[in-house]
Amino acid sequence: MNKGITIERGLSLFGQTLPFTRAFPMVAILKTTVWIRPYGRREENPQQRHFGRRGPPGEHIRCPNTECTNGGWCIGDIVRDMIAKRETHRTAEGSCNGWRRTNDSEYRKCLTHFTAEIELGYKSEAAMGTRANGIKLQP
Ligand SMILES: [Zn+2]
Repeated sequence: MNKGITIERGLSLFGQTLPFTRAFPMVAILKTTVWIRPYGRREENPQQRHFGRRGPPGEHIRCPNTECTNGGWCIGDIVRDMIAKRETHRTAEGSCNGWRRTNDSEYRKCLTHFTAEIELGYKSEAAMGTRANGIKLQP
């Protein structure tokens, strides 16, 4: 059992894994809440996880189900897509990629359901340009 090793590193950009603030310097604000429901989407008391710019989500949100193999939910693609489109708010949901073994030794899709609310804010192009050039315009 080596599950959990490849998940929750950094977000990868062009195949490299970089810290979030270096991969996406244009992002000024990141607020993400993820609700995790190990017994399916109707579960009433989900686990909650919070992420910010200094503690961003990894490529995958880890599945808490200990019977789940290769589980998790890929949030990296959603965040990258939002940044590419300069979106500021999105609610996304999905189910675990993993499989669990039943008592009859059959494999079934893991039931864990994930819902995320993602808020992003961006630095203005002008602010980034000014900082890069170090030039202040005369009033
Ligand atoms: Zn799972």
